[in-house]
Amino acid sequence: MLLTRREFLKTSAVTAGVAITGMGFALYPVEAHAAELRKNLEEATQTWTICPYCAVGCGFVVHSSGGKVINIEGDSEHPINQGTACSKGSSLYQMANNENRLTTVRYRAAGATEWQELTWEEAIPMIAERIKTARDATFETTNAEGNTVNRTTGIGSLGSAALDNEECWLYQKFLRALGLVYIEHQARN
Ligand code: SF4
Repeated sequence: MLLTRREFLKTSAVTAGVAITGMGFALYPVEAHAAELRKNLEEATQTWTICPYCAVGCGFVVHSSGGKVINIEGDSEHPINQGTACSKGSSLYQMANNENRLTTVRYRAAGATEWQELTWEEAIPMIAERIKTARDATFETTNAEGNTVNRTTGIGSLGSAALDNEECWLYQKFLRALGLVYIEHQARN
């Protein structure tokens, strides 16, 4: 008998449900939790975005409520992933809600072994000053052949896997406007 993927998943779910029930486990708490979650999602604000991790470009729906992300799932209407997500995409929710994620600026001075915590008010002028110093010292308008290049090879950028599509666009504009050519992104499958 040939099964479509959808029929296979449906049959597997029913079989697993029967097996679990037969082993004496009740599914009611799970079902109740799922029903509660679904109700919260229906009342939440939905925002559509693109997964930041790789060039496949899967679509996701972000549910938020009270200014907090409460769920992120594959967009079933997106032509690329049709609601699915790989293991990295499935973990997107943890980018928004994760107690291990750093939320303050950490700075380690050249030669230092310890990190220190800075406020954004302290960090931003420091970053701006260093960008200007490095750019002024290394900016080239033409290369050895006399071609216009308008670039700096004195600054590089690495990141960021946690940016969404719109943030990446803005970030790229900023870097290219400064003349950076060493631009890398750490997300890989
Ligand atoms: S990391 Fe996974 S979910 Fe994200 S775009 Fe790539 S394949 Fe899609």
